[in-house]
Amino acid sequence: MSQRTFSIIKPDAVRKGYTGAILAEIEKAGFQIVAVKKQSISKDEAKGFYHVHRERPFFDALTTFMSSGPIVLLVLEKDNAIADLRKLMGATNPANAEEGTIRKKYAGSIEENAIHGSDAEETAAFEIGYWFAGYELL
Ligand code: GDP
Repeated sequence: MSQRTFSIIKPDAVRKGYTGAILAEIEKAGFQIVAVKKQSISKDEAKGFYHVHRERPFFDALTTFMSSGPIVLLVLEKDNAIADLRKLMGATNPANAEEGTIRKKYAGSIEENAIHGSDAEETAAFEIGYWFAGYELL
């Protein structure tokens, strides 16, 4: 069944000029781009987005990194979108990511790992609503 997920091309990948290559991988894998926008976010916006990680030791570093430069926010749609995007992304730590995954090709470290993807339906709904208004999702 068709499903929506939320993704971010993170500041490291945008800085390195990988935006187009990562979007091409996403489209080649069969995702429709429902909505896309490039913007910089504040540290407070990053903290709200990653609030589930607020107790983790890397929370401050992660939110500083995510607000360090422009990012590309995406809403994507296909059958099984949430699980299929996670598979296309690869493991959180690029050292453990499978060959052919986006993180294997484009990520530099466990923190600067090129791409975000929602991990469940409820998270996808929260994340899409956090960054996009209803009129942007038609
Ligand atoms: P994801 O779902 O694969 O993105 O991974 P998580 O939800 O576990 O973590 C969210 C993000 O926090 C990751 O994508 C990384 O950017 C960052 N992160 C995760 N684990 C670590 C860590 O051990 N150290 C640092 N510095 N960053 C981390």
